[in-house]
Amino acid sequence: MEGYGCSLNISETQKIDEFLESNNFERTDKLNSADFVIINTCSVKQVTEQRMFSRIEFFLNNKKSSSKIIVFGCLAAHKKKDLLKKFPTILVCDTSLESLCLVLNIKKRSFSPKLLGKKSNPLVSIIPVSVGCLGNCTYCATKIARPNFFSYSIKEIDFAFKSALKSGSKEIWLTSQDLGCYGFDIKTDIVELLKVLLKNKGEYRIRLGMMNPNFLKKISGKLIPLFSDDRLYKFLHVPVQSGSNRVLKLMNRGYKNKDFVDLVNLFRKKVKGITFSTDIIVGFPTETEKDFEKTLLLLKKTTPEVVNISRFAKRDGTKAAVFSGQLSEATKKDYSRKLTKFCDEYMLVNNKKRVGEKVRVLVSEKKSKNLFVARTNNYRPVNVGFGYSSFVDVEIVEAFPHFFKGETK
Ligand code: SF4
Repeated sequence: MEGYGCSLNISETQKIDEFLESNNFERTDKLNSADFVIINTCSVKQVTEQRMFSRIEFFLNNKKSSSKIIVFGCLAAHKKKDLLKKFPTILVCDTSLESLCLVLNIKKRSFSPKLLGKKSNPLVSIIPVSVGCLGNCTYCATKIARPNFFSYSIKEIDFAFKSALKSGSKEIWLTSQDLGCYGFDIKTDIVELLKVLLKNKGEYRIRLGMMNPNFLKKISGKLIPLFSDDRLYKFLHVPVQSGSNRVLKLMNRGYKNKDFVDLVNLFRKKVKGITFSTDIIVGFPTETEKDFEKTLLLLKKTTPEVVNISRFAKRDGTKAAVFSGQLSEATKKDYSRKLTKFCDEYMLVNNKKRVGEKVRVLVSEKKSKNLFVARTNNYRPVNVGFGYSSFVDVEIVEAFPHFFKGETK
């Protein structure tokens, strides 16, 4: 079993693992002895798609002759025809657990918060709260793979949350394609959900998954007070994608650059030290130098602590794939290089201001025998050499554009 993609996909890979074991399947890491080889795929980017195809080819060339290759997840749902054309002998599912049960000929079951997963990090549980989104962005392949939007009930999610705490998790990621519209289909929202989850006693941290500006705007007023509880990481991942309103319109994002600026200013004013993470797509069809400058200006105004930069790539079946004015790879490369340089520079300047600060962190990730990643209350990564699985006090002794180094003093 191999899994790729976003937090939702990771959690579904973990759930499939646990579910198959409970159905008497035995996991093996030996490709040439497996009866079934399952890959949970991602389809968000062109490069990822190419990687999935080459993994499947590798499996086909190295599997035992009787073994079945099962392709699951977003790419399976998005590119079923292309996959079967290239690899006629594979079994292709979609993003539903039922489709996997069908090809494995086992009793049907669907994904739900009550189906717990096999954690890859014993300290971190990932809980999907909804699947799909209410957006319709012109570049998005995920919308093709997961066209329907639905939210799980607060009761089911609270059950998963309690199970996560019982299993020893200290960090819980709430995830979906767009957390901002969680519950809109069941007359509730992410704030009401958080109020219930935060009633659970104990020392833990909740990380909120991505929220689009147009939905975050609707709930910001009632979300802000919840950040006074330290168990909610002061962290928001709000993909803005571009600083140009003309490009945002072509992307069909449903908000303007001012909405993002206002949200950042509002949360920075009301929630001290909050971390903003955002996503930017450079090189969208017809994007001009002027549009790109507007993206730089937006980042200059808001200085998000984390900026995930990707170059636009056509995704088959999306509207943007057939837009005129596609940019050259050289131009896209130039834009992403300029943006990376710009972000690294201001991030280093801002991070250096925190050297000498004493902070309480949760050491939640093991990188190697003596290297761990800890998280501050605003989810900033601090490399430390001790204290795995506990909350510790450290001093920030060094700063880098994307992380810090911490030591006990
Ligand atoms: S909000 Fe847009 S980019 Fe995000 S999953 Fe939905 S359609 Fe795709």
